[in-house]
Amino acid sequence: MADFSLDLNEDQLQIQMWVHDFAEDVVRPVAHEWDEKEATPWPVIEEAAKIGLYSWEFFAQAFADPTGLTMPIVSEELFWGDAGIGLSIFGSALGVSGIVGNGTPEQIAEWVPQCFGTPEKIQLAAFAVSEPDAGSDVSSLRTRAVYDETKDEWVLNGTKTWITNGGIADIHVVVASVEPELKARGHASFVVPPGTPGLSQGQKFKKHGIRASHTAEVVLDDVRVPGSCLLGGKEKLDARLARAREGKSSKVQAAMATFEASRPLVGSQAVGIARAAYEYALDYAKERKQFGRAIIENQGIAFKLADMRMEIDASRLLVWRACWMARNGKTFTAGEGSMSKLKAGETAVKVTDEAIQILGGYGYVREYPVERWHRDAKIYTIFEGTSEIQRLVIARAISGIHIK
Ligand SMILES: Cc1cc2nc3c(=O)[nH]c(=O)nc-3n(C[C@H](O)[C@H](O)[C@H](O)COP(=O)(O)OP(=O)(O)OC[C@H]3O[C@@H](n4cnc5c(N)ncnc54)[C@H](O)[C@@H]3O)c2cc1C
Repeated sequence: MADFSLDLNEDQLQIQMWVHDFAEDVVRPVAHEWDEKEATPWPVIEEAAKIGLYSWEFFAQAFADPTGLTMPIVSEELFWGDAGIGLSIFGSALGVSGIVGNGTPEQIAEWVPQCFGTPEKIQLAAFAVSEPDAGSDVSSLRTRAVYDETKDEWVLNGTKTWITNGGIADIHVVVASVEPELKARGHASFVVPPGTPGLSQGQKFKKHGIRASHTAEVVLDDVRVPGSCLLGGKEKLDARLARAREGKSSKVQAAMATFEASRPLVGSQAVGIARAAYEYALDYAKERKQFGRAIIENQGIAFKLADMRMEIDASRLLVWRACWMARNGKTFTAGEGSMSKLKAGETAVKVTDEAIQILGGYGYVREYPVERWHRDAKIYTIFEGTSEIQRLVIARAISGIHIK
């Protein structure tokens, strides 16, 4: 028998069906309502916690899959249900990847369960990198972390913006500059534990899409955290800073390491939105009659659907490849993580746009879900690195040239 297979195994199929049922029965029926409310869908998160979907045990089990495919399968199904609600449930995973990507085993064991809490006391996590003047250019962060040796505490000051779960999270993972002259190589990640004084929510943003997901500024005003909250520990940081001062190359910086790992999963979310719109448009095109025949009988419509399906399948394969590579310790030599997120994000925008076209006027109004999917899709060419930044990563990787 051949070693290579794209067949999902029994466990993966079961989990896929389980999440699909949750997306169909619990998420979809309330998607429109929470989009209109523009508020965190606590009852849905509670349901997800009750069945164990929102729990660190589930995430640990899913990430342990040696093929790397369980997580993208799960997030595709959940985001097929609704992206705003999906991000409210999976937004904590961003904070988790910040901890897992940079923390010691002890820190991971201490903080990751707290990113979820329990079904009785749900907790959320956030990953705070972006700032008003540092979006794509992460190297120019202004948030400072200063070590107070007398108390073995770090003092954080600055303002983060566009933070998913910002201010409502229990655990904030904050990337700050320890040594600004070293730019991105002088950054470090910190856990800010629940209830730490000095951390507050600034403006909450009203958005174009994924409106059930909370996005806000996070203000850090003399936030003091114990030395143990520096992810990776002081010794490792000091060694890294010393190497950077000498101009020696060091491993990828704190925020970048997290993004590389999380991009393919963000891509799988976009695949879920695109698939929702494609399936809806396909059914609609078979039902809707104009000129005495179903509109799908026109090549002009049928070919659109063929392209939509092809682009979705191509996106999923790129996502699966990147997740398999990441799980199996393969190095991304051609920006494969970025490729998967870029392709999936742009496909979601294109496919949802075509879905509106296929529904005509019905695609443009809020009684139908297609316009919401289109609004939701757009964020996937912006967050976790814009499409331009993904192209930059790929171009640099394949050329070895520091393209600007
Ligand atoms: C809903 C939402 C949720 C978010 N969640 C989080 C979160 O949880 N945590 C977090 O830290 N951040 C989060 N972000 C921030 C997000 O990652 C940034 O918005 C994104 O990185 C882009 O930064 P910017 O908005 O400052 O745009 P800019 O960096 O100012 O970019 C503006 C435009 O210039 C282009 N551009 C910039 N530099 C180059 C270049 N070198 N070459 C070519 N083009 C370039 C960009 O591609 C873009 O088209 C979120 C944002 C949104 C909108």
